[in-house]
Formats: sequence, C-alpha cells, structure tokens
Amino acid sequence: MRFQAPRGTNDVLPEDEAYWSFVRRTGERMAKLFGYGRIETPMFEDARLFLRGVGEGTDIVEKEIYIFDDRGNDRLALRPEGTANVCRAYLEHGMQSLPQPVRLYYVSPVFRYDRPQAGRYRQHTQLGVEAIGDGSALIDAEVIDLLASFYDALGLSGISLHLNSIGDAECRPGYIEALRAYYKDKLDDVCKDCRSRYEHNPLRLLDCKVERCQALAVDAPSIGEHLCAACAEHFSSLQGYLTALEIKFELNPRLVRGLDYYTRTVFEFQPPEEGSQSVIGGGGRYDGLIELLGGKPTPATGFGAGFERIIINMKRQNTPVPEAGTPRVYVAHASEAAREAALQLARELRRADIATVVGGSGRSLKAQLRHAGGLDVRYAAIIGDRELSANEVTLRSMDDGEQRQVARDELLANVAD
Ligand SMILES: [Zn+2]
Ligand SMILES: [Zn+2]
Repeated sequence: MRFQAPRGTNDVLPEDEAYWSFVRRTGERMAKLFGYGRIETPMFEDARLFLRGVGEGTDIVEKEIYIFDDRGNDRLALRPEGTANVCRAYLEHGMQSLPQPVRLYYVSPVFRYDRPQAGRYRQHTQLGVEAIGDGSALIDAEVIDLLASFYDALGLSGISLHLNSIGDAECRPGYIEALRAYYKDKLDDVCKDCRSRYEHNPLRLLDCKVERCQALAVDAPSIGEHLCAACAEHFSSLQGYLTALEIKFELNPRLVRGLDYYTRTVFEFQPPEEGSQSVIGGGGRYDGLIELLGGKPTPATGFGAGFERIIINMKRQNTPVPEAGTPRVYVAHASEAAREAALQLARELRRADIATVVGGSGRSLKAQLRHAGGLDVRYAAIIGDRELSANEVTLRSMDDGEQRQVARDELLANVAD
C-alpha cells in the first residue's frame, strides 16, 4: 500500500517556500502595520460554536464541516472558517473590557469538505483579521484597506474589489420577503440547492453558480432599495472612505457571501482572469455574531484571505518573490577520521548563524561536492587528514571552483561576508 495525502489536500514543499514565507511575512507585517495583534485558537472547537455561529442553513454547516466525536464523546469540529472561534476567544478572555475595537489577526489553516478543484483545498491557510467592538464604517474601510494593501505589497495587480451591503435585522427581513415573492413562482426553474436555499437562506439564491440560477438572479429585487436609513448611511460612509483612500470598488448587489452572520458590509476581492469562483479574499461586518454566541451585542468586522489561491495568482502573474535562503556552506569530509571534525565545524558555523549542511557519511568526496553543487551553496569546507593535522580547512568557492587553505579559526570570517 502506498499512502497519499488525503484528497483535496496538498503538501507545501521547500520549492514553494519562497512564496509561502513571503506571503506569510507580508500578511503579518501588514496586520501589524494596522495595529492588529496576533491570536491563535485551536484547530478544533465545540461543534456547536460553528453550527450556531456559522448557521445551520449554510453550505458550510450542511455539507462542508468536518465534524467528529472524540474519545470522550465530545462533539468537535475542525474550524471551517476563522471568525466564530476568534469571537469565542474574545468572549472567553473578557476582551470586552479592553479598549474597543480589539484588533486581532491570525494565520492558520481552515478545513472544509469541499469539492476539490484548482485552488480549492480541504485544508487551506488563511490570513484573517477581526476588528471587534466598533460598528462604524470607518473600521470596514480599514479592514478593506488592510487587505488591499496586502495584495499590493505582494505585487498582485488587476485585483478588483466587489462591495455590497446586505442590511441588518431592521431591513433585511423586508428584503427577504421581496426576494421570496420574486422566486415563489420560479422554483421549478432553479437548481435543487436553490430550492432549499429558498426555505433556509434565501439571500444565497443570488450567488448560486449554476447558470440558469444566475440568469434568474439578474432581475431579482436588489437589496439597495430595501436598506433602512441607518444601513444606507453606513454604506454610503464606507464608499466615501474608500474613495478617500483611492481604493476602487464595484458595487455588486448580488454579492452576499456564504455565511449567515454577515450584516451590512460584505466584500470580495477577485483576480483579473476569473469570476467569483476564484475569490482570493473577502469578508464583511458581522454585528450579530457575538450576541449569537452569548455575549452582549457587539459590532465587528473582518476578512479572510486564502494563501493557496493568492500564490496561484502570484505564479500566474509572475510576481517576483524574494529568494528563499539556501544553505551557505557545505562541510565535506575527505577521510573517515575527519567525520567528527566535520560535525564540529558545522556546529560552529550554525552557531554563528550560517546555514550549513554536512556531507553524508560513506560518500566519496567527489559525491559530496556534487551534492553541494546541487544544493546551490556558496562554499564547500573540506576536511581530510591533511587539514586535520595542519588545523586547516580547504575552502572551495562553488561559483568558480577556486580552492584555498584557510586556518580553521579563520573560517568563519572567510564565509561570513
Ligand atoms: Zn441554484
Ligand atoms: Zn438596515
């Protein structure tokens, strides 16, 4: 039997490390520049947190959540998104008593039993931020600015921002009524999923990916005309802030996002080539979630941005990334007697912060140097019987093959530059 990574998962190999470390570093740098502090929560939680927080009628909870009973018969779920768990931590650690909003970010994997396809993985890593405890449109503009700045800093171009408001408890029920009225006599024409959405989550009729459903959504009533005065004012302030920040956006009345907890602002960033199937980040406001999880009413906003899809788009756009460092020195031994000296030398170099690889025991010097060439190191430091007795090292520059003798205690100075 040969084992393989589970369907819909992928291994991140060293050759992709340049991308991964650049994206991770840039995301963290950007979050910190905006004053967000890091939070990490467990990969699994009490399943009820997500069933309640994300919503029973959503695709995530109905089809995609990894749920299991552990050995103590506790029902747990791998986190299918990053927000409900951060809100749980906000409540559990009494962050309501801190100055608001509390600005948090995380870089962590999320898990969904999704249909595997390009850029959609059952485990993917995302940068998420949550700003909890402030209901103003200014903070919506801030998280959108943060995400747009992240894409800019990665060198991605042509990313478009799609924006909508889906109202709140005041005005959404009226809109949903209008939506149901529109779809009432069209249920034979929509897909099976949409018939169930009509009952449980009618907003999601608008962003179904099935072609005939999309065609029907074009003439569906638009939320814009149903927003209450407070929601309309919030939405117009947000657009004003984005304009002041010179962040371009497109209003998209059919953008609703897949989660129940959103209120007012929702947004998505799309890469140039494809449509909403390939969204590389998005989020919105979720003013009702904390209360739903047992806290006092607390407005909040945030986003999640998946690294895998970002990296796919960086590769597509040939975005340059800083090289991942390769080891600098390869320590080769030219005789059996020099093996221990090779290990000691490598340890000295590493303690001086110089990345060093040691040649494998039982390989000829020639094989070790070929190996060193393949690793793209700058120097090979060779120790054999002659070097041992002279307390020297033969230092070979891998670029030009030039070799010289260096006193053992001067090696560091010669490879450090
Ligand atoms: Zn549909
Ligand atoms: Zn409203």
